[in-house]
Amino acid sequence: MKREEVKTSYKWKLDDIYPDDKAWEEDFALAQKQLCFTQYRGKLHDKVQLLSFHKAMDEFGKRLDKLAAYAHLHHDGDINNNEYAVMYSKIHALYSKYSTEVSFYEPEVSKLDDGFLDSLISDPDFSDYDYHFKRVKARKKHAVSEEEEKIIGLAYDVFGMFSDTFGVLDNLDLPLPEIEYGGEKTKLSHGLYGVIIHGDDREKRREAYEKYYAAYLGLINTITSTYVGNVKSDVLLSKVYKFSSCLDMALFEEDVDRAVYDNLLKCVDKNLSSMHRYIADRKKILGYDKQYFYDIYAPLVSGVDFKLPYDEAFDFVVSGLSVLGEEYCRLFKKGRDERWIDVEETDGKRNGAYCASCYGVHPYVLLNYHPSISEVFTIAHEMGHAMHTYFSQNNQPYYKSQYKIFVGEVASTVNEVLLLKYMLSTATDINLKKYLLNYYLDTIRVTLHRQTMFAEFESEVHTVLEKEQPLTKENMCAIYTEISKKYYGEEIEHDDKIACEWARVPHFYSSFYVYKYATGIISAINIAKRILSEGGSAVKDYMKFLSGGASTDPVSLLKLAGVDLSKSQPFEIAMREFEETLDEFEKLMGL
Ligand SMILES: [Zn+2]
Repeated sequence: MKREEVKTSYKWKLDDIYPDDKAWEEDFALAQKQLCFTQYRGKLHDKVQLLSFHKAMDEFGKRLDKLAAYAHLHHDGDINNNEYAVMYSKIHALYSKYSTEVSFYEPEVSKLDDGFLDSLISDPDFSDYDYHFKRVKARKKHAVSEEEEKIIGLAYDVFGMFSDTFGVLDNLDLPLPEIEYGGEKTKLSHGLYGVIIHGDDREKRREAYEKYYAAYLGLINTITSTYVGNVKSDVLLSKVYKFSSCLDMALFEEDVDRAVYDNLLKCVDKNLSSMHRYIADRKKILGYDKQYFYDIYAPLVSGVDFKLPYDEAFDFVVSGLSVLGEEYCRLFKKGRDERWIDVEETDGKRNGAYCASCYGVHPYVLLNYHPSISEVFTIAHEMGHAMHTYFSQNNQPYYKSQYKIFVGEVASTVNEVLLLKYMLSTATDINLKKYLLNYYLDTIRVTLHRQTMFAEFESEVHTVLEKEQPLTKENMCAIYTEISKKYYGEEIEHDDKIACEWARVPHFYSSFYVYKYATGIISAINIAKRILSEGGSAVKDYMKFLSGGASTDPVSLLKLAGVDLSKSQPFEIAMREFEETLDEFEKLMGL
């Protein structure tokens, strides 16, 4: 389909940002003129100057966000349109100029004394920045000399090379072989591997798995060296910044207490018997004597026909979320009616789905809608992001409006869980029920258990180097196998390929990132369950969370919605949810 052929109500309304390109150009020129902050250099110890600097930064930031959103969304709507590609690159240039221009800020505020910082934190004039200055104060404990900071700044590029090298290897140099698929020989890309491994054809899955892992195993020495380099740079930085471990450094950056991380690992560990049961069930349902890792994504329930045209799908999602109350649903529909959403797949449009924010305007959602059950969940998911963005931007000042990664997937997952429960409670087709229960189990397995398993692996690997012991491919594969056996149990065969699965996970190059997926889904399950059992009061609390943006630390934000991750209870609730879903699934499957 061509973009011109799409009906207007299915295209996002980007003239809410700027009426036309000319208006964008004018505002861009204004931004260029506005980009001048050096007059504040050396003056940030003065309250008046500091406040004026922050206000000026906010004004500039808002303008830059609008400019960027307009260029980026137009560009994603039609990647072949050169005009927007040019706009997009102009924005990139402006961004890098901006970060150079304000680079004096960090070192200067880190030298402000505690008394002065306290006076900022309690000053109503600085209320937009109170949390920011609390963090500045906390970071002082880990400050280094200016000379050291300069050297580290220069070295960051070098540290980043491990991740870059793996990226190049994984996306360009990895010798992925050919495979016969759909009647023709084609390269076994990452995308195709994903399709095959989720498919019905066991022999094809086995072939793809063997070939895919052989490519990584062939480069295992190189990948080991790259990954060890990455861990070594974490260890070096944690020592320079006076943290007791790499994990503590990562948690400090997020402003998350160590108890959250420990609760996660402990609680998942304690409840692995239900995972073992699920893995054993899979083997039984699939009817295999032996189950291998190329079977772990094989579909258990097929023949589900759930194809709604977009308008019906959207209304269906709204019905599923009606428990969130009138205001939420009204805004949800407003998003559709006022064209926040780009619905159809068209030539040159970016694939996938996402939500983008634009402060002062409204969020935008990109879809490529095709009638299927998973895309109904995509609407709920992306609109969940949009609502979180909307509420935060309408209740927080600019500086506190953009929610952080730690809470970033909570609102989207709450919607998915609520929709799933609605579908389960209304479905009359037993096969659809089986499918939904299995979908839920797999979502929790992949987002909660698997990511916690990854977290445990990276934690152990970092500890090895912190204790100054050698990190080799042999001990990393041994650590991985041991953890994987613990997570999946006896009913799946561990071979030499799965032992090196760590070698193909790009996320390991952003150390201590994956646990946030697990805490995200745990929080969402808790919130959804509470809303379904308590109704109005729980919804009210949830709205406080959605309106919280980045006004304080992520654990406190979640507490607003009634989830206290510093305690073990929410983790236990999520594990019970998995177990109860499994009970129900087994009953329906006649196990
Ligand atoms: Zn998302």
